[in-house]
Amino acid sequence: MSRTAYVNGAYVPTRDALVHINDRGFQFADGVYEGIAVRRCKMVDAGPHLDRLWRSMGELAITPPMGRKALDVVLSEVIRRNRFSDAFLYIQVTRGVAPRDHAFPANDIPATLFVTCKRFDFDKVLQRALAGVTGITQPDNRWGRCDIKSTGLLPNIMAKQSAREAGVFEAVLVDSDGYITEGSSTNIWAVTEDGDIVTRPITDNILGGITRARIKTIAEKLQISIKDAKISVEQAKNAREIFITSATSCTTPITKLDGEKIGDGTVGPVAKRLIDAYFKFTDN
Ligand code: PMP
Repeated sequence: MSRTAYVNGAYVPTRDALVHINDRGFQFADGVYEGIAVRRCKMVDAGPHLDRLWRSMGELAITPPMGRKALDVVLSEVIRRNRFSDAFLYIQVTRGVAPRDHAFPANDIPATLFVTCKRFDFDKVLQRALAGVTGITQPDNRWGRCDIKSTGLLPNIMAKQSAREAGVFEAVLVDSDGYITEGSSTNIWAVTEDGDIVTRPITDNILGGITRARIKTIAEKLQISIKDAKISVEQAKNAREIFITSATSCTTPITKLDGEKIGDGTVGPVAKRLIDAYFKFTDN
């Protein structure tokens, strides 16, 4: 079955969804994006994802291509037309099409907007989470505004490719002081040797994950206390548990980092509780 995408005002077969070669997203990565999981035809945390999209556009002075309510309608329509019950929605907004020039175009040009949808297998993600995954550390050599969900992802891609070539699942990015920032496309958490559950505070050098925020709310309800704190690579390797969060990994434990076992090398009790609670949340 051919998938349907939305591009600049039209619903079209994904294979026919095209943007102009002078699109600034194509030439400069002058654009932002969001990825939203869909569970049983319902978007998971749509509100916070759209808040973040609006924030990313605002930080880069990109004029939104439409209002939030209109975008919500487009997203629902893309889900409906693709007839997936569980899916992953990708939304991209770029500054638009203009002859190549580094500075913003002088005239107000319409932003480019497209939305694609693909099947997403929640059960597979759950099985993977319950088995745990492996990771390697990689230097974080990204720019200073990782809080903006920009399409400029080369360092993330290079790090993920290194992980792939090393036969592991995720690249854990490390800043020049030896502290973990985040994963190539995930936020990182640890249960320290002392039993504290920690994740890096949100500043300009990491993305404020929507799943990170949701896990915090869920943890509060379960009376699990979470601290915002930096985690050094050494602390991570001595931790009882490490796990990642994102819209597509939900909550997934890393049981081995750089070939070293985390804790006893199996999925720990804190991660297990949060995996269970997060999947219950998406099911409702
Ligand atoms: N950090 C980075 C660099 C990411 O790309 C992502 C995934 N978009 C995340 C964290 C997790 O964010 P979310 O929970 O909103 O998917």
